[in-house]
Amino acid sequence: MNGKTALITGASSGIGAATAYALAAAGATVVAGARRVDRLKELAATADGDVVPVELDVTDQESVREAVTAAVDRCGGLDIVVNNAGVMLSGPILGADTAEWDRMVRANLLGTLYVTHAALPHLLESKGTVVQISSTSGRIASAMGGVYAATKFGVNAFSESLRQEVTEQGVRVVTIEPGMVDTELADHIGHDAVRAMARQLAESMRTLRAEDVAAAVVYAVSQPDHVAVNEILLRPTDQA
Ligand code: NDP
Repeated sequence: MNGKTALITGASSGIGAATAYALAAAGATVVAGARRVDRLKELAATADGDVVPVELDVTDQESVREAVTAAVDRCGGLDIVVNNAGVMLSGPILGADTAEWDRMVRANLLGTLYVTHAALPHLLESKGTVVQISSTSGRIASAMGGVYAATKFGVNAFSESLRQEVTEQGVRVVTIEPGMVDTELADHIGHDAVRAMARQLAESMRTLRAEDVAAAVVYAVSQPDHVAVNEILLRPTDQA
């Protein structure tokens, strides 16, 4: 990864932070974006490699354009984008707080679209790679996760279209679909009973660790140029 620049969204915790550590350790310059800049600074201070914190709200197109420009200006180009920022506000459809639906659609789906749109000209120039952190929920929807799954199905659909549009120009599109990972994601669920259910489920198995997903990202982006790893589905062995 020496000489490569990677922009990672949602790098302030969980999978994004683990991916930032892993790509920096592999030699890439990592531009780490999120809203909690204090956490990004901590990440930069503790990484074994070059990590540049950038304030980023993926739901705000101006903020997205600024982060992409900051990465390109600082590093002279952009080779890898990891669209990882996301929220999971699970709950029943009946009586749902639709403001939570808006938050999920804006961060998970529109955020991925905006970042890809802003980065694509630079990735075409570098013949780079886009990595989408989707989910098993991008393949199979389940009760209490309808809108979250809709955003991840959307990410998968968008990514397949993007792949067909840019692969012959040398840009690789990778969709990664993890099952349950031990992060703070489910702690933000507003519905008390559903949050408790999610916690119980996590405690019932050996979940994936954020580092397991980061290793999948590193695998995908470090293949030779002629190899496009388009999709990786990884679940905890204990998750049926
Ligand atoms: P975390 O809650 O630890 O991380 C989510 C990250 O997204 C945070 O860094 C947060 O940063 C960032 N984020 C949220 N909203 C925005 C925004 N508007 N702009 C910029 N950044 C934002 O959870 P995970 O690490 O688990 O989640 C990362 C991705 O992995 C998500 O897309 C999630 O859907 C996916 N995933 C997670 C699974 C799991 O079981 N944990 C399973 C499958 C997929 P900040 O608040 O500082 O902005």
